[in-house]
Amino acid sequence: MQHRSFIIAAGLCMLLLTGCSAPSKTESTDLFAMDTYMTLKVTAPDAEGLLQQASDRIKGLEDTLSVTRPDSDISKVNAANGAPVTVQPDTMNVLQKAMQIGKVSGGALDITLYPVLKAWGFTTHDNHVPTPAELDALLPNVDYTQVQLSDDTVQIPADAQIDLGALAKGYTSDAVMDIFREGGAQSAIISLGGNVQAIGSRPDGTPWQVAVVDPFAPSENLCILAVEDRAVITSGNYERYFTDEDGNTWWHILDPATGYPADNGLVSVTVVGTEGLYCDALSTALFVEGTEQAKAHWQKAQDFEMLLVTSDGTILLTEGLEDCFTNLSSMPVEVIPRA
Ligand code: ADP
Ligand code: MG
Repeated sequence: MQHRSFIIAAGLCMLLLTGCSAPSKTESTDLFAMDTYMTLKVTAPDAEGLLQQASDRIKGLEDTLSVTRPDSDISKVNAANGAPVTVQPDTMNVLQKAMQIGKVSGGALDITLYPVLKAWGFTTHDNHVPTPAELDALLPNVDYTQVQLSDDTVQIPADAQIDLGALAKGYTSDAVMDIFREGGAQSAIISLGGNVQAIGSRPDGTPWQVAVVDPFAPSENLCILAVEDRAVITSGNYERYFTDEDGNTWWHILDPATGYPADNGLVSVTVVGTEGLYCDALSTALFVEGTEQAKAHWQKAQDFEMLLVTSDGTILLTEGLEDCFTNLSSMPVEVIPRA
């Protein structure tokens, strides 16, 4: 009898020890949203439920933030003819970061570029080179400092239009990480059109191996970054571009100072940090800033790491990435020192 109650007690203890945490499963899913292919992979007790929640959240954010959805917050702001528009907290979060990075990048990131992006056809996949006169007419309305934010309203001049294409995916990536973390995931990785963000390490405890695309040969990888708990976000001139009748190539990241594709010495910028929104906003901003300004920006900010690929084929790496970097290319590598 005594022996039997011991067995029951031991069994109960085992149940208490293991019962609270159901075993984790690894599940993944693919979807197309925000004009790009996305892959989500998570290890958690309810991995399938988390993937469903994440997919719903991504679609919800697309509805709210997309410039091409007529009912989005952004379309409402663009159609308001100068009047204030009440927007959702998600929209406000992204706008606040856009203003902040607009400022620290000296206007390299400018969400009011939208009319110029439209003139190039980048938002509609109907590309053509605008005439200098067309650009001259549009550029005076490009000025992110004209965007007025209150607690929950946005107001822009009647002739201005905004677009969050440079940072919406980064915010979405953070939102998915939040869902996964709240659902108890200790390991996850997502790629939103090549923008990668990870929780923890791989299920076996080793770091995630994130490949960075070779901007000169986009079907190949340039290098691998081994990371844990990081966003790795790239802006490159190979991601969306077209070639005109004269054989000139034009890409989708524009310099707000000229209205032309940014051509300041870089072909790709990868930013590594803890927040997807910050990394995404920065990757676009630093691409426009160009080699020298980007270096100075990093040395001043010191709250992210970056990998730059220059137009003449050199990899520039900030100090903090040295130990997690494996070069797969034959390009020379230079390390950018902290000061
Ligand atoms: P991707 O979306 O290809 O990952 P980015 O994060 O760099 O790349 O975002 C590029 C998008 O941002 C463009 O497609 C356009 O909508 C918008 N954009 C382009 N140039 C700028 C700029 N200087 N400031 C703000 N937004 C920009
Ligand atoms: Mg970006």
